[in-house]
Amino acid sequence: MPQVTDAEYQKRLRQCAVCPFYQDDTCLKCGCYVSYRARLATKHCPVKVW
Ligand code: SF4
Repeated sequence: MPQVTDAEYQKRLRQCAVCPFYQDDTCLKCGCYVSYRARLATKHCPVKVW
């Protein structure tokens, strides 16, 4: 699976950390583990934050 750069990964994690749908490493919109999903270049935020 293609992965994003470390810089992009960290940016995504920072955006999730302040998102109202974020809880305990889980995205309440899609049910995914954010630390896993944010790594993958083919995945995007379900509400288009990233
Ligand atoms: S993936 Fe999007 S909706 Fe889910 S926690 Fe991150 S910023 Fe929020």
